[in-house]
Amino acid sequence: MITALGLTVAVVLLLIVRERLSPTPAEGPKTEQETAPRPAAAKDEPVLTIPADRSEREPPLRILMKPGASPPASVSDHDPVTAQLNNEGLTHYSRGDYSEAAALFQKAFERDGQNRTLRNNLALAKGNLAWKQVEARQYREALENYQSAVRLVPDEPTFFLGQGLAYDRLNEPDRAVQSLKEAIALNPKMPEAYKILGDVYYQRDEIEMAAGYYEKGLELDPSDPALRLHLAKVRREKETQAGFQQEASRVFTVKFEGREERDAAQRALRDLEEAYREIGKAASYYPQQPITVILYSDQQFRDVTRTASWTQGLFDGKIRVPIGGAATEPDLLKKVLFHEYTHAVVHGLSRGLAVPTWLNEGMAVYFESEDSTSREQHLLRQLRSGATIIPIEQLHGSFMGLSDNQAALAYDESYSAVKTLIGRYGLYRLMRLLEDMGNQKDFAAAFSDQFMVSYETFQSDWRRTLQGAVPR
Ligand SMILES: [Zn+2]
Repeated sequence: MITALGLTVAVVLLLIVRERLSPTPAEGPKTEQETAPRPAAAKDEPVLTIPADRSEREPPLRILMKPGASPPASVSDHDPVTAQLNNEGLTHYSRGDYSEAAALFQKAFERDGQNRTLRNNLALAKGNLAWKQVEARQYREALENYQSAVRLVPDEPTFFLGQGLAYDRLNEPDRAVQSLKEAIALNPKMPEAYKILGDVYYQRDEIEMAAGYYEKGLELDPSDPALRLHLAKVRREKETQAGFQQEASRVFTVKFEGREERDAAQRALRDLEEAYREIGKAASYYPQQPITVILYSDQQFRDVTRTASWTQGLFDGKIRVPIGGAATEPDLLKKVLFHEYTHAVVHGLSRGLAVPTWLNEGMAVYFESEDSTSREQHLLRQLRSGATIIPIEQLHGSFMGLSDNQAALAYDESYSAVKTLIGRYGLYRLMRLLEDMGNQKDFAAAFSDQFMVSYETFQSDWRRTLQGAVPR
């Protein structure tokens, strides 16, 4: 739902729950229908130690820019055409125009495939182009260029490193591991390779392996604060999960502690399978990678996630749910799991990259329950009692700075905006937008590409409709 830094980390605060947990009633407009969900309390927002959005949690891997291969060079002993093509390529290369440089080097290389300099020049242009594409989140294109570079110069570790990074971002962990291990075999001193390997194993919930790689990375680069945080988190998790058992299906692995939690775990697994089928059918999307779900005691959940006491669930690449209250409330557990599973779907579609919080949370609320009309009623009640609509453009980041009432409004608006989008363009298109987010930095551009209407126009339309629904 909300995060300190990232946008993908998702915390569900089911508002009904908060009411139960909190002895004092939440502030907010009093209404006649007390059954409606309560506003969320911004002051209780969790402060998460690790943002799940990869683009924020990872420092740029600058090493990829500096392959160890010899720098591009001119060729003297060649026919004038080849030499000319190569020289033009060098000019573009020196300007940082790697795309054009690669095209020219390619032509030169086609004229003499035996020449090592021409081969090296082409590989370097491709490698640098690929890195630019990584920065622009064009991972598919980056992967193709790294693959070419690897084929041309198979002993350059940074090409394997880049290829591994691209595979990881494209959610192909097995290939990522293979490529990163090749990189390490060629140069065992690249901390980045160990960091990415740690991430891959952490996502797979192979905690020991992840810790080992993070440790190795930190050994090589002790100054990296993000890595230090990762390692601390992984160690905490390792300790907590030491005695855990698990129930698994093809897609989900549910981890839990005691025998008495086995029933809850089995029920959770059934709910998750239902979420997988239902959301999959509605959205035509089924995550390719297995999903780990960890059921904690309330205290363990606080220790591992460092969230506030009312938090009912978290998605940070894994679904984490405190089972204490939820175990005795099957409907609540189901709602939490549907909500968090939706975040996993959003995460998968957008490849873990930043999605505006209103869109992420709106989707989760949309799928958490069959009947979300109470959300809409709640929103309208707030507007009727004088609340001012928060522009959704201001709801891209964390909701943390918002007051109680504003946070409630933020969730209700998120749901309303998502419902409007689905009503207008269909869920399928919304899912494609999320997919585009994985490739494109600019949300507004991805939005207008997908819906043929500007983000701005949508916002003012939505706002007008909402205001129109409030009687004066
Ligand atoms: Zn959420």
